Amino acid sequence: MTRQEFRSALKPITDGLFGKQNTRGYERPKFTVRPLEEMLKDLADIPVEEWYGYAFSREPLNGKFTDEQRRDWMRKSLDCGREYAQKVRKEYGTSDPVKLADSLSMSVSYPEVPDKTDRVLFAEYRIPNKICIYMDAVNKANKLLLEPQVLEILTEELDVCRLLLSHELFHFVEETYRQEIFTQTEKVRLWSLGFLHNDSIVIALSEIAAMGFAKELMGLSYSPYLMDVFLVYGYSPQEASGLYEEMMELSGRKNHNYKLI
Ligand SMILES: [Zn+2]
Repeated sequence: MTRQEFRSALKPITDGLFGKQNTRGYERPKFTVRPLEEMLKDLADIPVEEWYGYAFSREPLNGKFTDEQRRDWMRKSLDCGREYAQKVRKEYGTSDPVKLADSLSMSVSYPEVPDKTDRVLFAEYRIPNKICIYMDAVNKANKLLLEPQVLEILTEELDVCRLLLSHELFHFVEETYRQEIFTQTEKVRLWSLGFLHNDSIVIALSEIAAMGFAKELMGLSYSPYLMDVFLVYGYSPQEASGLYEEMMELSGRKNHNYKLI
């Protein structure tokens, strides 16, 4: 994938940006471009548990769940991510995802852009032990972080590259503990007939836990889900503004905190 192809593949954003989640089949309307720092300020104020609407909006099975179920899973998945972050930190004596990846014998590479055009991602984990962090997106985000107002909101704790690495490391940890970890043992029954049944994992749980894991390792005060807006902004302020509106609406903040412009 060339940088140009990567950029055009980002429009419209129809996928979960960190994970392998399902696409949604509609064309995004045109959105008014908003100042980055205003959007980040609003998003950083949303308590982590209240991101469940957005977290499940990319989940292929979302239509089958009640709001109560989503909220419960949000809490449990965040706890799961936090718990495993504490576990690996204790075991390896560090919160630095680069050192953790090394201790876990991961092979981490930092190509500029993905080599395939079928998925738009900023980072990815490939079974068994490969992680790719795409540096074109990281470099763009780092440029935006030079703006003092943006840095003030996202704080000195944020290291974009390490945050993406932490998220992907969780997917490896999840693979290692798949027999016992909540995100893999929690299943929904898709159908049953007599003694036959088909159960499925819920992809959103893994993504939520990966965000909880990354948040804990990096010591961030806000939900890493806001990175979707931050990383997309480097490519398309308009798409980022659209995502922002979606996040505000899905966290129950419609017409609440943001001005009409
Ligand atoms: Zn993920």
